[in-house]
Amino acid sequence: MSYAKLFKEIKNKHFPELKEYKISFKQKRQKVFMNSNIFSIKDFLKQKELSPITYNKEILKSTPKKAVEAAIAHELCHKLQGLDSNPLKHIYIWVSCKLTLQSKVKLEREANIMTVRRGFAEGMVQLRKSCEKRLKKDWDKKWSKLHLLEKEIKKHSSKK
Ligand SMILES: [Zn+2]
Repeated sequence: MSYAKLFKEIKNKHFPELKEYKISFKQKRQKVFMNSNIFSIKDFLKQKELSPITYNKEILKSTPKKAVEAAIAHELCHKLQGLDSNPLKHIYIWVSCKLTLQSKVKLEREANIMTVRRGFAEGMVQLRKSCEKRLKKDWDKKWSKLHLLEKEIKKHSSKK
């Protein structure tokens, strides 16, 4: 199955709130695995076509399917975070994420909890493992903070 098709399936099946929003899933030369660009103008103005979710093709190809699905769901949860914010809150989140890692951690963990509650617990465990393996030193320095621990994933998957 193509990744664009997988993306569409996850969006349609698990994110009915996003039904009216067009979002494309595109390859981009970027360091990070996936990016949802929720601070773009399109997302800020909540246009019918939101900015695309972009991915790094090499990382995508070497990531297990369940983990890819969880990563897609995570990015779609970011879109919901953006849509749920009024303009002031949206700007506030953007600025605070630029200023402190703590704010970024908060935004990421919130998106991760949403992802788990939407039924992607197993994929989130796999995603955590594959990111840890890929990022090595940077994992401990920065990225591990943005992920949920396995026991946290279990905790949140039991209460929907
Ligand atoms: Zn994220």
